[in-house]
Amino acid sequence: MPDDHAPKATQGFATRMSHAGRAGTRAHGFVNPPVHRGSTVLMPSAQARRDFAKDRFNRVMTYGTAGGPTHYALEDVICEIEGGTRCVLVGTGLAAVTVPLMAYLKTGDHCLMPDSVYGPARNIANGLLAQYGVATTFYDPTIGEAEVAALIQPNTKVVYTESPGSHTFELQDIPAIARAAHARGCTVMMDNTWGIHNFMPFEHGVDVSIQALTKYVGGHSDVLLGSITTNTEEDYLKVRTAASQMGHFAAPDDCWLALRGARTMPVRLKHQEQSALTVARWFENRPEVQRVLHPGLPSHPQHALFTRDFRGSCSLFGVVLQPAYTEADMFRLIDSLKLFGIGASWGGYESLALPTTGFITRTATSEDLGGQTMRIHIGLEDVADLIADLEQGMATLPR
Ligand SMILES: *Cc1c(COP(=O)(O)O)cnc(C)c1O
Repeated sequence: MPDDHAPKATQGFATRMSHAGRAGTRAHGFVNPPVHRGSTVLMPSAQARRDFAKDRFNRVMTYGTAGGPTHYALEDVICEIEGGTRCVLVGTGLAAVTVPLMAYLKTGDHCLMPDSVYGPARNIANGLLAQYGVATTFYDPTIGEAEVAALIQPNTKVVYTESPGSHTFELQDIPAIARAAHARGCTVMMDNTWGIHNFMPFEHGVDVSIQALTKYVGGHSDVLLGSITTNTEEDYLKVRTAASQMGHFAAPDDCWLALRGARTMPVRLKHQEQSALTVARWFENRPEVQRVLHPGLPSHPQHALFTRDFRGSCSLFGVVLQPAYTEADMFRLIDSLKLFGIGASWGGYESLALPTTGFITRTATSEDLGGQTMRIHIGLEDVADLIADLEQGMATLPR
């Protein structure tokens, strides 16, 4: 078998996830790359030490923080998932959000962020970025090219996006936003955790793509990890330099777990997508439910954008109850569920339910969704069992 297991662009996603980032002949025939833990890397000579140090972002092993074979394997896999050319791994999904923001913004700059952004991204905008003199405007995530263009100031450097939005699932017209941003020299960043391989960021104008690998790539709720993927050498060096200066690192053991997760991700994702659609449609037909926030359903207000830009959906969506129900009613429903844990994160093998109402911040749009809202994550359980559990949960609501 040749050393070159490199996947081909013509191959399907599952095939590429099986073959990307393998050990080749470097691990005595073992299929998987080993975990290379380490700080010190011994050099063959003093001169080599000097030469290697100049080239530390090009897979030359000089010190633990510069990465090693386990990192390289996972970087290759992430590039396969997102269609990018280079990837920077960091210790959490949140670090994958903050590192590019710190890399591209400086004192006096301005950043645009969607109002539906992942909460901790709002926190760094209002926290450290504000502290360092970077201003952020939160915008309605559903606006188009002209409205985004109107919000861009001479000092705007980053247009940040996340589609669909955390908790509220608004889709963004990424190509239109990217056109407005690029016409004014701004960099487009996207948190693509929900879209994963169903939304190809670089085909839609994104420059820097963020993934919480904690979610579907990890897939087992046992690892925290993030990736920042780019498609030009310039963007890669910018992100890599910032991550390096701030001492970011991804533990090789965690990278190894993410590599293991990636092999089965296409199968898990497909299964969870189907189960989630089944459960979402079931919710839609319940009299207790006002609406379901799932971009893959024709009832979603931006379903046309979904069919235009996405190849599929995932297993996370929102459920808005009828306006008559109170917070106590929703809490009782969530507490009654046996198969749905009450916990943050998603993308794992286990189902989760979380209250959304009262846990989100909106400053440019209304946070009133018209009724008590919860976020549902569908795991790998049998869908009939999940629906039976939800059925008994709905029975706790007052008639
Ligand atoms: C979970 C999440 C993150 C952060 O990932 P962590 O690994 O938990 O830090 C970032 N963006 C989105 C959309 C997420 O859901």
